[in-house]
Order: sequence, then structure tokens, then C-alpha cells
Amino acid sequence: MAKADLMDKIVSLAKRRGFIFQSSEIYGGLNGCYDYGPLGVELLRNIKEAWWRDMTLREDIEGLDSSILMHPRVWEASGHVENFTDPMVDCKECKARFKADQLEESECGNRAYKGRKAIKCQEEGKFTEARNFNLMFKTYLGSVEDNSNTVYLRPETAQGIYVNFLNVKESSRQRIPFGIAQLGKAFRNEINTKNFLFRTREFEQMEMQYFINPEEDEKWFEYWKEDRINWYKKYGMKKNKMKITVHDKLAHYAKSAVDIEYEFPFGWGEIEGIHNRTDYDLKRHTEYSGKKIEYFDDLTKQRYIPFVIETSAGASRSLMAFLVDSYDEEEVIKENSDGSKSSEIRTVLRLHSYFAPVKAAVFPLVNRDGMQDIAHNITEDLRKYFRVFYDDSGAVGRRYRRQDECGTPFCFTVDSQTLDEGTVTIRERDSMAQERVNKDNLKEVLLARI
Ligand code: ATP
Repeated sequence: MAKADLMDKIVSLAKRRGFIFQSSEIYGGLNGCYDYGPLGVELLRNIKEAWWRDMTLREDIEGLDSSILMHPRVWEASGHVENFTDPMVDCKECKARFKADQLEESECGNRAYKGRKAIKCQEEGKFTEARNFNLMFKTYLGSVEDNSNTVYLRPETAQGIYVNFLNVKESSRQRIPFGIAQLGKAFRNEINTKNFLFRTREFEQMEMQYFINPEEDEKWFEYWKEDRINWYKKYGMKKNKMKITVHDKLAHYAKSAVDIEYEFPFGWGEIEGIHNRTDYDLKRHTEYSGKKIEYFDDLTKQRYIPFVIETSAGASRSLMAFLVDSYDEEEVIKENSDGSKSSEIRTVLRLHSYFAPVKAAVFPLVNRDGMQDIAHNITEDLRKYFRVFYDDSGAVGRRYRRQDECGTPFCFTVDSQTLDEGTVTIRERDSMAQERVNKDNLKEVLLARI
């Protein structure tokens, strides 16, 4: 399948099945913003929940939920006011706006020159001089709109962690090494948003900052690099679609940095960054707030400003990577009612069962002989523990196909044998294998398989 087609198919499935909608669609949409529909919100929550559990159900990591609006000095200390900029150019002819360092990859905004690269327009002198554009969204605190009340929507969750380092250390009585994990919304006024959820203006991050003794920075950097790539593998991401890229150009705060990249249909793209941020952030917050942020190790009697190893993942970008990774089309042979055979294409989302928005669907084979009542009862029982979907419309084959597209890992079907001997079929999404199980312990059956 052509890569462009694949992306179109995923975007279309995401809308058709209720994963992702364009924001404010009835008003023509809002660029770079998306809404998560009934299945999308479940998938996103499951990804975030998996990350949260894996990060915080351990001795050495505490959770945090800091506010989106923070004191404006935070962003001066962090360097965002000064440095969080992209060079921007405008086309004098078609008025499109580009990131000046991406002209080779960007397409000219003029429909009349479809497919033409923006770099060509630059060569022809159509662009303004590059100027720096700060990516932070500004707003005002309180009712007076003047500069002294300016606050920013946070462009990353990390700073909320640094400014709470002392609070968390003291209240949780953690000793170094320890980490603080936080997930939540971040906002960046990106010059160009593109590639669906890859680069949006509002998105969610899953960040963990690990505070360490500066002498151990290399050891912990390696540890978190391994740990994070294994996390994606644990939830089924294909190994050959992931790679680690080492940054040769480092950000002003970093001593070393790598990206975990995924091969999207439009090319390789970062899904998570792992950075050795040294003591840059804590030092800067000490300097700007006047409050000394340091650590005293009462065993070794060492006093120091901790180094930070950061793992910074995008929840929405990861969701997109998992969607792409799990999308599959395969040819299946189906038996027609007259006994003949024909082939059809089955579209299936092979999502990890922990991520799947709906864990099981329940069908009565036909709508008679009390099969619907039994299927309803099974649905209600299972719903106490899992997200379950009941469906009695259309041929059972079509119902399976619908669930395949939603990534539902298991389907239970009530048939005439259920009436005679109390068993139902369980059909597994990936292999399509079916077996019979007792209808009275489906909760255990599901638990064992998820
Ligand atoms: P990029 O170079 O792609 O803009 P970045 O290096 O600025 O990314 P970080 O600041 O390291 O990204 O952010 C950490 C993670 O947050 C990224 O790996 C990505 O998953 C996510 N992220 C960053 N910007 C966006 C965005 N505009 N839309 C969606 N996710 C984003």
C-alpha cells in the first residue's frame, strides 16, 4: 500500500469509528487541534494509564499534577521566553507561513503550483526575511490586559516538576535517585501543524524527570533509554519501526540527548526524547526565584544540585504511532450462503489488549429464541469490569469486521448451543480463531487473556 494512502486510510478510519475528529468541525475546523471521540478518548486514557502505572507503581517515582498556568518568571528561568522560538518566513505572494529551517520539506502554499517545494519560492525571492517567532501562547491573568499580567499556557509539563522539586522531596521523603512523573496538556503555537496528530497546537505530554547525583548521570541516562524503548515494545510496537537517534546538535541545557523515533507513513518522527538536562533547570530556578534548590545526602554528607534525566513523551503522538503500528489489512476467504467462497479485505487494528478501547463485544447470533436476552445479561455482567459493546444488527461476519476496525480483541457470540449447553464462542481478533467457553465465567476468561 502506498504510504500516502495508508495515512489517508488511518485518518478516515479514525473519524469513521469515532477515534479522532477535527476540532470545531462544524465551523470548518481549527487548525492544529483535534477532538478524541468515544473510542479515541478510551485509547488515549489507556495509553496514559499504562504510562502512569508503569512510572509510578515503583518505589522511586512520585506523581504530580501541576497547574497549566504558572508564574511568568518560570518561563524566563527555563529559557523559553528567550529561546523557545522558531525562525519564520512569510511568502509575499501567497501569504503562506513557513518554518525557515524546513523549506526543503514544506510545500508551497499556492494551489496553482501543487507539489512545488517552498525552497524554490525562496530561491525566487518570494519570502520575507526570517524572524523569530515565540511558540508560547500568551494570555492575561485577571481582568486587566496589560503586559504585567501576561501568563503563558505551558509549552511543556517539565517546569511544573522542577519548581516542585523541594515540595515533593520533603513531603514524600524520597532520597536521590528519585523521579517525579506528570502527564497533562501542553500548548505550542506551532508555525506549521501537519501530519494529523503528529504536530498539533494543543497536545498531551507524559514526562518524568529523574533527579540524580551528577556523578551517576551516564549510568542513569543509559538506564532510561533502555527502559523507555522497552515500554513501547511491551505494548506491542514493532521493533523494526522504532529507532534511537542521537542528537548531534544539543539544546542549550542538555549534555546528551536521544530521540525514540517511529517510522510513520510520512517518514521517521520523534515520539519521545530522553535528555540529560544536567543541573541547568534547578540552577536557573534557584537564580530566578532566590530559593536555593539543592540536595543534601545525609549518608555521604555530599551537598549538590541534582542532575536531571528527562523522559519526555507525547501522549497524542504515541497514540498516533500506536494507531499506525496496529493498522493492518489482510485478505480473508469467506464462505457465502450458497456454499461458494470469495475473498475480501479485512481491516483490523491489532492494538494491545490493554490499550483496546473496547475489550469485548457480545452478539446474539440471531435475534430469536431468547439469544438477545442472554447476550444482554452477559454484557451487563461484564460491564461491571470492562468496557463491553453489545451488537445485534446485521450478519455476524459484518459485526466482527466492525469490531476488528475498532481494535476489539474479543467477541462473544450467543448461539443455539448456548441454549442447549451454556457455552458461547469466543473469537480472537488477530487469529480469528474461535473456541467455546462456559458463559458463566467470561470475566475470568477475559482477565486471563487481557
Ligand atoms: P519536535 O522537534 O517534533 O517539535 P520537540 O523536540 O520540540 O519535538 P520535545 O520538546 O522534546 O519535542 O517534546 C517532547 C515530546 O512531546 C515529543 O517527543 C512529542 O512526542 C511531543 N510533542 C512535542 N511537540 C508536539 C506537538 N506540537 N504536537 C504533538 N506532540 C508534540
